[in-house]
Amino acid sequence: MIKEAVILAGGRGSRLKDRTAAMPKGFLEIGGKTMIEWSVQKLLGAGIEKIIIGTGYLHEMYDTFAKKYPAIKTVCNEDYASTGSMGTLETCAPHVTDTFLLLESDLIYDNIGLYVLINETHENVILASGATHSGDEVYLEAREGILKRLSKIKADIAPVYGELTGISKLTTTFLNAMCEYAAQNQETASSCKQKSTLEYEHVMSACANVSPVFIRKIDRYAWREIDDETHLQMAEQEILPRIIENESLRAVRREILLNPGPATTSDTVKYAQVAPDICPREKEFGVLMAWICRELTAFVAPPGEYETVLFGGSGTAADEIMISSCAPDNGRILIVDNGSYGERMAKIAAVYNLPCTVFKSSNYEALDIVKLEAIFKSGNYTHLGIVYHETTTGLLNPLDVICPLAKKYGLVTIVDAVSAYAGIPMDLKKLGIDFMAATSNKNIQGMAGVCFVICNKNELEKTSVLRMRNYYLNLYDQYDYFVKHGQTRFTPPVQTLYALRQAILETKQETIEKRYQRYTECWRVLVSAVKKYNLSMLVKEENQSHLITAILEPETPDYDFDTFHDLARKHGFTIYPGKLGAINTFRIANIGDIQPEEMRRFTGVLGSYFVS
Ligand code: PLP
Ligand code: MG
Ligand code: MG
Repeated sequence: MIKEAVILAGGRGSRLKDRTAAMPKGFLEIGGKTMIEWSVQKLLGAGIEKIIIGTGYLHEMYDTFAKKYPAIKTVCNEDYASTGSMGTLETCAPHVTDTFLLLESDLIYDNIGLYVLINETHENVILASGATHSGDEVYLEAREGILKRLSKIKADIAPVYGELTGISKLTTTFLNAMCEYAAQNQETASSCKQKSTLEYEHVMSACANVSPVFIRKIDRYAWREIDDETHLQMAEQEILPRIIENESLRAVRREILLNPGPATTSDTVKYAQVAPDICPREKEFGVLMAWICRELTAFVAPPGEYETVLFGGSGTAADEIMISSCAPDNGRILIVDNGSYGERMAKIAAVYNLPCTVFKSSNYEALDIVKLEAIFKSGNYTHLGIVYHETTTGLLNPLDVICPLAKKYGLVTIVDAVSAYAGIPMDLKKLGIDFMAATSNKNIQGMAGVCFVICNKNELEKTSVLRMRNYYLNLYDQYDYFVKHGQTRFTPPVQTLYALRQAILETKQETIEKRYQRYTECWRVLVSAVKKYNLSMLVKEENQSHLITAILEPETPDYDFDTFHDLARKHGFTIYPGKLGAINTFRIANIGDIQPEEMRRFTGVLGSYFVS
């Protein structure tokens, strides 16, 4: 799994004259977007976690740009004016920790090239294309697919195997060999404090005898390096349209899920499932799972003080894991039931014959905190089980008040946050949440199949002495085994975990705060349409989550959910009914990879059904 990339962006790009007077080449716009932005977005989409940009000329612009993307680290080659691109690569080298993609900054390219390199089994690989006739080609000579020589002079190369695209994959060993070569072949007259005046591709070629460099050629690969005015025109008029067409042909049909999970995912998350087969007991996969656990924790709590335990299973499995694993035989659990999922927690406790009392409250009105506090105060309970966001109605329980109160009276708190986690900013430590359940397929925007419990480590350790009430779903056993072996006890859903990794990267990129704002914006669009078409909501606005809205079905005889559903589906939207005792509702969830613009489109469909 390739996680790092280096972009060489030190040079001035003087052949573009006035265009690069006020900006480095990477900031030239093609199709209304800068080259650096195109490139960074493609790298992030391909699962790259860390992008090192080697800057120089007008480096401040890259430093400012980097603030938009937490994955970017800029390092400056102060001597850029007198070094070659190898000098910039030398500046980046100390920050590279693993096999990486190496790119020039003045490229536009089809993202397929990144996937081809990432999946290539050879270690050091140059991505090559067929003839571009760009007028600035670097020609490659190969022997059995291995790089033999490269040159800008065609006559030096016999025969031409392909052209260098400026995108490669290299190991750190090879990078070190390149740096050593550069140091040994330093021009003595150089004024640049030991940094190389060579171009990186020549060093790569010179080191190809140390370790073979494989050439992976895609004949009609859509790409262009932008070094002069002609390239810029070619890129705009000919290459970018081809890239956009190629990439759009690989897009998966867009279905917007407005049902309350699984939620709509990005194509990059969908494609992340297509990964090489791996035995999940390989160390590499253990490292991946440990990374996932740490990042899932870090969204809501300090890793180390809190631990995430992964299981294969759906949200209900996570609820069952918590209820069955966290309380001792002589414990007494108070479960708040103000919706289907609170009711489900109580049912699970009943199946396990756990001493449990249900606090029943309205499914659509705010909880009575005073009453709840009195119960906490009674001293009759050791554990509290509660749902953060009742998905059936969109009712949000005020855990910021309830959990600190429960802690004040010494209760251990067990929270189902399946439909809140990663959609609503939360701080488990501040809230006083000890155990929290969630899944891979709702607001984190991954695929279904993984569930997890985020645990206050102190409280988790206390459960180590409890009798195991079940086997597969036991929380401490799963945790302990993973700590000791770096593996889950049983087969994990491998591809779902790859997708979850990508979903985490995309969540880090967006941030949960911004995601909540986006969801809230979608919800506002929906609520204003609901009002416009004289529909009513089950829950008062001030008690809603902004993630899911339960809308009362109109009593008119011509309303029919199935007809409405089919109409919406025809327009690419999936909706879901919801029945609460005698109250009929349909539910619109605005979670997942959806934009306010799409919600606006949905409200058009809503209007066409309810007005006509
Ligand atoms: N808890 C809550 C709050 C939920 O919203 C859901 C699913 O919607 C679940 C638990 C159960 O999840 P699953 O259907 O994945 O078992
Ligand atoms: Mg070049
Ligand atoms: Mg160039």
